[in-house]
Amino acid sequence: MTLVNQQILLVSRPLGEPTTENFRLIEQDVPPLVDGQVLVRHHYLSLDPYMRGRMNDGRSYATPQALDAVMGGGTVGEVLESRHPKFRVGDHVTGMGGWQHYSVVDASAPSALRTVDTTHIPLSAYLSVMGMTGVTAWLGLTDIIAPKAGETVIVSAASGAVGGVVGQLAKARSCRAVGVAGGPEKCAYVVDELGFDACVDYKAHSDLRSLLGALKQACPDGIDGNFENVGGMILDAIMIRMNDFGRIAMCGMIAGYNGEPLPMAHPGLILSSRLKVQGFIVSEHLARWPTALQELGAMTAAGTLKYRESIAEGLSSAPDAFLGLLKGLNFGKQLVRLT
Ligand code: NDP
Repeated sequence: MTLVNQQILLVSRPLGEPTTENFRLIEQDVPPLVDGQVLVRHHYLSLDPYMRGRMNDGRSYATPQALDAVMGGGTVGEVLESRHPKFRVGDHVTGMGGWQHYSVVDASAPSALRTVDTTHIPLSAYLSVMGMTGVTAWLGLTDIIAPKAGETVIVSAASGAVGGVVGQLAKARSCRAVGVAGGPEKCAYVVDELGFDACVDYKAHSDLRSLLGALKQACPDGIDGNFENVGGMILDAIMIRMNDFGRIAMCGMIAGYNGEPLPMAHPGLILSSRLKVQGFIVSEHLARWPTALQELGAMTAAGTLKYRESIAEGLSSAPDAFLGLLKGLNFGKQLVRLT
């Protein structure tokens, strides 16, 4: 029996904020497999801020998403049919299946498909704490901030997929962990559930002076490590509060993903406070993934690494859920359930 695949394509590039008009849902038959291929039925699709950058045609570290092609994206699912000796029907796998129900994967391509063990860890976690976002948190914290016990580490978008892990890993390294998040509910979660020492609600502070006052309270000994996910006024305030020889892991600048200008108010602080500022892209550090996943896996299986998922139901909900993610409507890792 031929399977019918639902797929979401990118059909136009946004100017500024994207809309649902940029996407189109279509149906297509799943083609028969040839040798070396595997048919995967997706259970969950991951929605991530980097997808906004790929919708543009400009110069970036990631190649632009092609028009009239299936939106790219991380997926977890099960093998339905296999013509590759490494994969068996029923295996749980993770890959870049995209915004669709099924993918036909050339399983010999490096890193195309990875079998995952769901004995102690739920399948969906391989798109968050045990996947790209977990490794991003680990990498920026461990390799760039490299915190020492007793130091203060701050992270913006703290209730999100990356931010939540950063703070918990910082606590595991005996640091003071401080979050910045939007709204009292997210801040309460960051402190009460994730175990951060403090969280600043940036939405309660409309100007730099007021935000700086809140940071002073939350970080009485200054800031040694900043895991930057947002940019703009939040970064400006954090830089002013940073201690000499502080480290900034430049992970994301979501406040500017729709093209908003993000000037840095006090770049002179990089010199006067002798700050180290380093950008990084997680997919360029594949050699570090096994070490990262070892620590993340041990903590996840033991239940000591907490995480939260925001789950949208059904493929057709993906565009709205993605637009919501860019506005902070998600609360934790944004996924789409496809089964
Ligand atoms: P999240 O789950 O944290 O979701 C995004 C969050 O960003 C929103 O919930 C919202 O939280 C916050 N946000 C959105 N717009 C703004 C704004 N204008 N000002 C302040 N906060 C805003 O996403 P991820 O954890 O997946 O990603 C976090 C960051 O990490 C992103 O910048 C992303 O691009 C980056 N990233 C970088 C990687 C790399 O290799 N360098 C890899 C993976 C992610 P709130 O409601 O608290 O404002």
